[in-house]
Amino acid sequence: MEENIKGRISVLSSHIMASEKAAALTAVPSDSPTIFDKIINKEIPCNVVYEDDKVLAFKDISPQAPTHILIIPKVKDGLAGLSKAEERHCDILGRLLYTAKLIAKQEGLEDGFRIVINDGPNGCQSVYHLHIHLLGGRQMNWPPG
Ligand code: 5GP
Repeated sequence: MEENIKGRISVLSSHIMASEKAAALTAVPSDSPTIFDKIINKEIPCNVVYEDDKVLAFKDISPQAPTHILIIPKVKDGLAGLSKAEERHCDILGRLLYTAKLIAKQEGLEDGFRIVINDGPNGCQSVYHLHIHLLGGRQMNWPPG
C-alpha cells in the first residue's frame, strides 16, 4: 500500500516536472513585463515572506520542496535573467543572495538549503524577471536534473 502511494507520488511529480519544463520551453526570452511585475504591484496575490525597499520574496505557486521561495529584485533594470547581468547589477545581485541567507534562517532551514537560478531555455527559465529559488526542508539530490 505504502509502495503504491510512493509510486503514485513519483508519477505525479514527474508530470509536474514535465509541465514545468514545457512551460520553460514555451516561454519566450524577453525584457517585457512578467507576472512578477503584477506580484510586485500587488495586482495579483502571493504569499510574501520578506520585503524591503529593493527585494520581494514570496512562496512559489508550485513548490518543489517543503520550503520553496522566490526572491526577486523589485526593480528589474534589464535583469530578465542572470545572463543579462552587467557590472551595475553587482549590488542587487549581492543583496539577493544575502537576502536568501536571511530568509533561510527565518524559515528555519538550519540543516541546509539550495539556491537555484535558472537561465534561458536550457536552464528551464519560465519567467523572465531574475529570481532566486530558495529550496529547503528536505534532502536534495545531486546532480540536479
Ligand atoms: P523559473 O522556471 O523561471 O526558474 O521559475 C519561475 C517560477 O515562478 C516557477 O517555479 C513557478 O512555479 C513560479 N511562478 C510562476 N507564476 C507564479 C505566480 O503567479 N505566483 C507565484 N507565487 N509563483 C509563480
